[in-house]
Amino acid sequence: MEIEAYAKINLGLDVLGRREDGYHDLSMVMQSISLCDIIHLEPLPEVNGSSEEGEITVSCNVRNLPCDEGNLAYRAARLLFSEFAITDHLAIDIEKNIPIAAGLAGGSTDAAAVLKGVNEFFGLGLSDEDLAQRGLKLGADVPFCLMGGTAVAEGVGEILTPMMTPEGLTVLLAVPDIQVSTKEVYEALDQIQIASHPDLDHLKAAIDMDDTGCIPEFLGNVLEEVTIPRHPEIAMLKRFMMSNGAAGALMSGSGPSVYGLFVDYDTAERAYEVLLCDAAADKVFLTGFQPAFG
Ligand code: ATP
Repeated sequence: MEIEAYAKINLGLDVLGRREDGYHDLSMVMQSISLCDIIHLEPLPEVNGSSEEGEITVSCNVRNLPCDEGNLAYRAARLLFSEFAITDHLAIDIEKNIPIAAGLAGGSTDAAAVLKGVNEFFGLGLSDEDLAQRGLKLGADVPFCLMGGTAVAEGVGEILTPMMTPEGLTVLLAVPDIQVSTKEVYEALDQIQIASHPDLDHLKAAIDMDDTGCIPEFLGNVLEEVTIPRHPEIAMLKRFMMSNGAAGALMSGSGPSVYGLFVDYDTAERAYEVLLCDAAADKVFLTGFQPAFG
């Protein structure tokens, strides 16, 4: 079985407050993009009859990713294997295309793909809602990744309202070679006075009206207030996008990924060619909005 696991960007991200449990109340507009990992699920052949019951192995085409319980794909499979006492063996192979720890939900989307795959593969009969409840135990972005497409995400990210996916915008995505800790960004945000909150109401209205001219105007991410002062490369990449024809540009999640939205594909392609030679971006992708599954 082969499953596509799509990356996400935030068209909008606002932090409404800090909760008693330490998490933050969020209001986000999430968008899947066509950039994806490919997850292969295969029954694992027994090695000399010695492999353990319910064994799960993970392999991956990149070296800097754990292939044990540290991998969210493994944890997703283990969660269902334990609950349903599955004794078969499973090999998970991850063809990793989504940059890691980049604000693109790479781990969450792999976990979501494995939950769906194991559910189908072993005929567990779990509904979308059942999968989302289990996915939330693995990460706040997993319920959205199970659904994909365009959605408003509230709470810690688990209260989802699907929206129509806008058509006709091209995404130029740039990932600088810098490390950002999501935990530290949220902690730092608690220490500052937020200068301005994004206008998510206008953003949602523009999406509802499929107004591709207006959507880029209302992109906004409150976490830029923490990450950009620490990493000026992000501001440089946003400026690059705007001066090369993007209609809007934003950091995704807690960073460091930056994307530009282009109304005209040829303009985006020209900017992509230039950005490929720009040292500010370690990885560059020309991609687009991905509609919801099904
Ligand atoms: P977050 O906002 O939760 O930090 P992110 O989208 O910025 O997520 P991810 O690519 O999900 O970043 O990686 C976050 C962490 O999750 C990394 O430290 C990585 O080692 C770990 N991780 C575990 N499993 C995976 C996986 N299958 N793909 C990517 N990262 C994984």
